[in-house]
Amino acid sequence: EELIKNAEIAMYKSKEHGKNALHIFTPQMNEKIKRRIQLEEKLHKALENEEFRIFFQPKINIKSGRIEGAEALIRWQNDQGDLVSPGEFISIAEETGLIISIGEWVLEKVCSQVRLWRQQGIDIHVAINLSPRQFRDKELVKKIHRVVSSNGIPADCIALEITEGVVMDDEENAISLLRRFKEIGIRLSMDDFGTGYSSLYYLKQFPIDELKIDRSFVMGIPDKQDSKAITTAIISLAKSLRLETVAEGVETEEQLEFLKRLNCDMVQGYLFSPPIPAEEFTNLVKK
Ligand code: C2E
Ligand code: CA
Ligand code: CA
Ligand code: CA
Repeated sequence: EELIKNAEIAMYKSKEHGKNALHIFTPQMNEKIKRRIQLEEKLHKALENEEFRIFFQPKINIKSGRIEGAEALIRWQNDQGDLVSPGEFISIAEETGLIISIGEWVLEKVCSQVRLWRQQGIDIHVAINLSPRQFRDKELVKKIHRVVSSNGIPADCIALEITEGVVMDDEENAISLLRRFKEIGIRLSMDDFGTGYSSLYYLKQFPIDELKIDRSFVMGIPDKQDSKAITTAIISLAKSLRLETVAEGVETEEQLEFLKRLNCDMVQGYLFSPPIPAEEFTNLVKK
């Protein structure tokens, strides 16, 4: 009885299942679980109300210093007008399956932005992050192909960033899926490289274009010997596999110099620019 008295009851229409879902929150329930359920509900609304935004972070060619690409990073502008970072909601969206719809929204937004940029003579490729659940979506290749074509943009303007864990889960399947992406012309990038488990054997089999060196290694430059050793090893491995290298989270001139000496191809990080809205990105490229 005590339990019922203190319980909060929340009802909401679950879009996914098309029926009402009843949630009973008891004080005994972990505060965390309660917050998660509320967050899930808010995310559904955020998608409906267009509260998500895409920010773009420039990817710079280390030799020319020119912006050649961007990584699309989602933000959530909540009802207070604050920007919520993806770290706070992507994993929940992933667990609840909402990431599929969010991912489709991101894809649409990115492709239409690329189309607008091309109309202004700005020719850059944009990378989209894929989470494990999206990668398992059977319709993914078709969806991407459709959105790219309907925007009339070349497929190689779009890159997908995938983490090691996602492909190493089921290597054979991953290879055939990655091949299908390559067939339609999409670029593929291995994200956060070095943080997960990766088999070098499979790495060679994957038809990927680029390796992104995780920020945790770049962060250790120039003070940490192991970070420098790992970064050096990754770049040399990538070169021998004819893959482009991108260092993420570059914040200092020293890091940039170190990466230049190793012939790293591209850099991305606060030293150049944080992720910024499309309009700001346009101004940055035109400068
Ligand atoms: P990630 O793919 O590893 O993205 C890089 C993160 O590092 C971004 O955080 C970016 O803002 C941040 N960053 C870039 N340069 C620097 C730097 O110089 N210093 C520091 N300290 N950080 C830097 P963000 O935007 O908070 O994104 C976090 C993660 O959320 C991403 O990690 C990615 O895994 C995920 N994510 C973001 N957008 C999407 C999306 O549209 N779909 C999916 N599935 N995941 C996304
Ligand atoms: Ca990424
Ligand atoms: Ca990354
Ligand atoms: Ca990372």
